[in-house]
Amino acid sequence: MKRISCMRCHRPLPACLCTALPQYAIANRWPVHILQHRQEQDHALNTARIAVLGLGQCQLHAVTDAPVEDTLPAALRAELDHALLIYPGPQSRDIAELESDEARTRPLLLLDASWRKSRRLLLTSPWLQTLPRISFDLQAPSRYRIRREPEKNYSSSLEALCTVLGRLEHDEQKYAPLLAAMDAMIEQQIEHMGEVKFRRNYLLAQDD
Ligand SMILES: [Zn+2]
Repeated sequence: MKRISCMRCHRPLPACLCTALPQYAIANRWPVHILQHRQEQDHALNTARIAVLGLGQCQLHAVTDAPVEDTLPAALRAELDHALLIYPGPQSRDIAELESDEARTRPLLLLDASWRKSRRLLLTSPWLQTLPRISFDLQAPSRYRIRREPEKNYSSSLEALCTVLGRLEHDEQKYAPLLAAMDAMIEQQIEHMGEVKFRRNYLLAQDD
């Protein structure tokens, strides 16, 4: 039997997140584009969906293992040619070092995939490699305590977006309601599965 899903958040009705989301989308000043690997799409704890529902300017584009430039429409790629890629690593600049003029009007681009798949997407895409990369210092441990993060500075897609937007706009509290929605989603999943199964499925699961 097909389970009935909420039309808005696409989650099964008993796990609908809409009441946890802010009533109106938050008006982010930097437009956001998320390249989501198809494998993430149906993940029960997909945080990108919260970003799409909760941000005024946030678009999701599905990608596969193929080079990103083969998947994205040319017009979109042209639009993203001057994007800032949110991606941690030695080649990234901390957003704290960016002058506001440097970042102004540039869209933000985020890869929503497992860490291994994100790295592969970047390695197989000469176009992605041309984009300047930005990262940030996570001041607190990730709230998304579920999927293993290989390094302490990694976080969920939603936390990364909220942190980058909040710091660019000098208002980190502005995006706190979206993180609260993520917490609600996680709590709901724990309740649904039971703590033991939840830990086994998410904390101990392999990255890929
Ligand atoms: Zn819903």
